[in-house]
Amino acid sequence: MSAPAVMRVAVLRGAGDVAIEERPTPRPGRGEVLVTVGSVGVCGSDTHYYDHGRIGRFVVESPLVLGHEASGVIAAVGDGVDPSRVGQRVSIEPGVPDLTCRMCLSGRYNLCPDMRFFATPPIDGAFAELVVVHQAFAHPVPDRISDDAAALLEPLSVAVWACRKARVTAGSRVLVTGAGAIGLVSVQTALAFGATEVAVSDVNPARLALARELGATAVLDARDTGPETLPWRPDVLIEASGHPLATVAGLTALDLAGRAVLVGMGGDELALPLSVMQERELEITGTFRYANTWPTAIELVASGRVDLDRLVTGTYRLDQAEEALTAARQDPGAVKAVVRPQT
Ligand SMILES: [Zn+2]
Repeated sequence: MSAPAVMRVAVLRGAGDVAIEERPTPRPGRGEVLVTVGSVGVCGSDTHYYDHGRIGRFVVESPLVLGHEASGVIAAVGDGVDPSRVGQRVSIEPGVPDLTCRMCLSGRYNLCPDMRFFATPPIDGAFAELVVVHQAFAHPVPDRISDDAAALLEPLSVAVWACRKARVTAGSRVLVTGAGAIGLVSVQTALAFGATEVAVSDVNPARLALARELGATAVLDARDTGPETLPWRPDVLIEASGHPLATVAGLTALDLAGRAVLVGMGGDELALPLSVMQERELEITGTFRYANTWPTAIELVASGRVDLDRLVTGTYRLDQAEEALTAARQDPGAVKAVVRPQT
């Protein structure tokens, strides 16, 4: 297998401005592999960069290739990589840490200050025909995992990390606030971890119906029904809406010694119900991406415990990247748009 000299990429040139460009095909360096991209999921962060040109302290100052949920086939390998990996189907873990700092050495590489993460300025992402990644972050996937599902192992990893941090286990009763892609994979992951009750709240009836189909034991239309109406108290909250009211309602619904993991991104500040937290000894943590989640995510999908293909609500060519980025705003039933650069 040999790679072409040039490739097409979809580049964000500024807020609301995506264009197709030709660029030289990157060459894999030592320890790296070149991957022909089969599928790339569109994340809320991609859409946010498209709409606003920035996320918090990360600002798009020069043209940026978006996309960080990617899968494909290894087209070439750099020095020091087993050449038999050419042709292997892989899911890309899109953040490569320095592997030497205090956080990396303690196994928390998601907190590495020198992380190079796809589609986060100034690092280009995977809305491209080919990308280069460190060999250890190109995870082989079995053929029973589709290209789209292999790409969506990335958001599944967010849910695996959240469930680990919340210590979801057999018999857990879980409330998931928000039924977007992260909420829907969190429902499935919590069930796979052994949760026996998983309720989901959202304001979108189509998403709640999908949550039910994917195994949620209760759905709450947040427009008129709060978590206090559940016949049980959750011992885990996975907050995936980013909405302050949903967050506070979820925290307030938690049982004694409950745990909350805040995954959704909303405003920068939130007023917390302190007396509730103190009297019930609630634990609250944030999450930042994930570490060591791909092996678990691959097994959850390969074993059929988690269905990622069901989340795909639209497929697009690379030259339709802009449509993919705005799909959610056109269609309230949209959950996950994927770009297939080889089509
Ligand atoms: Zn590090």
